[in-house]
Amino acid sequence: MVAQAVPPVLTTTDPTYQTALRQYDRAVAYLPNLPSGVVEFLKWPRRELTVHFPARMENGEVKIFTGYRVHHNTVLGPSKGGIRYSAHVNLDEVRALAMWMTWKCALVNLPYGGAKGGVVVDPHQHTQSELEAITRRFTSEIILLIGPKIDIPAPDMGTNAQTMAWIMDTYSMTVGYSVPAVVTGKPLNIGGSLGREEATGRGVIVCMLEALRQKDITKSPPDISVVIQGFGNVGSHAARRAHELGFKVIAVSDASGGYYNSKGLNIPEMYAYARQHRTLADYRGEAEPITNAELLELPCDVLIPAALEGQLTGENAPRVKAKLIVEGANGPTTPEADDIFDDRDILVVPDILANAGGVTVSYFEWVQGLQEYFWDEDEVYRRLERILVRAYDEVVNTAERYNVNMRTAANITAINRVAQAMITRGFYP
Ligand code: GLU
Repeated sequence: MVAQAVPPVLTTTDPTYQTALRQYDRAVAYLPNLPSGVVEFLKWPRRELTVHFPARMENGEVKIFTGYRVHHNTVLGPSKGGIRYSAHVNLDEVRALAMWMTWKCALVNLPYGGAKGGVVVDPHQHTQSELEAITRRFTSEIILLIGPKIDIPAPDMGTNAQTMAWIMDTYSMTVGYSVPAVVTGKPLNIGGSLGREEATGRGVIVCMLEALRQKDITKSPPDISVVIQGFGNVGSHAARRAHELGFKVIAVSDASGGYYNSKGLNIPEMYAYARQHRTLADYRGEAEPITNAELLELPCDVLIPAALEGQLTGENAPRVKAKLIVEGANGPTTPEADDIFDDRDILVVPDILANAGGVTVSYFEWVQGLQEYFWDEDEVYRRLERILVRAYDEVVNTAERYNVNMRTAANITAINRVAQAMITRGFYP
């Protein structure tokens, strides 16, 4: 008798991955016609690599680091997604983030699958030359998995344009010629796109404007208060854009804590401060200090969580006072919090829609690089807005059709798109 293969079971104790898998289960429940094998396959990461590698520190010592690269799915094209440097990153978290990239790219109709990477390292504890050594060696460890037609990394938490430049250079030196399209989020002088750095934050505000319309909040911008958790690449640019459009940004935060002013913060000054000091710590402008936890519960019209996963939970969701939540971070809301927000009629614009501006302009950067023809900033923003508004409308229509919230609607749309592509392609061999 031939032994029957036992199908593996996907379980996890990581809260971020639990969130991603529960969101998936919630959405596929509305797609009963999908073959069960397809539903099962799309839940799993397609391939994943864990590496342990040495890097020399400035004092001559050699340290060992651990890193990951996960390709969740490649049905719609090469996989795409950031690389995160964090002391807490783990394989399950990277799996969750890779899965979200698949749905995010599919939702905004980019010809990409989803991936994510991470290195267990606190970038603030290392000098530039140490970060360069870590990045170059990590790149060479995962080089089999990346490439302009295979898998294209980008910045995420703890990484930036300089990190991408080192990856691009290491890859290019290995193959023997320059390959700018192997990463996105590069510096402008080596093939980056105008508007890429601002894109995620800007996209968050595009979605916020749509959501204000949807919620019928017709006050003028100076009367609309916005609270933003996080002042990194997403939060700071969302704050700047909201401020530029005249909205009252009353609180922001970073790892050093929260800063609050009921009359509105001086965002340009705070941005300049954070750029110079790499933190808001010791900012002495007109703001009172509050904790990150207090910030999430401030009375306001719009709350933008733009920092970490798992910030809005069953515990604090009952005390959130915002009328609408626009997710700049990936996975900031747990399924328990989602249910509470539904009950309380708080509209949540989900991450895979609200923060898709980043990967959308990454796609523009990749296209411009492959064509070796670059667009001006207006063109980047015009195309970005068109893609996000179209996706937003599609999610609203799906939410109405299935009578579900925006998150489940976004996931239904994206999962179905990937599943249908898979069915059209058929099954090899
Ligand atoms: N790390 C970003 C995200 O989570 C951008 C990914 C990319 O541009 O590929 O969406």
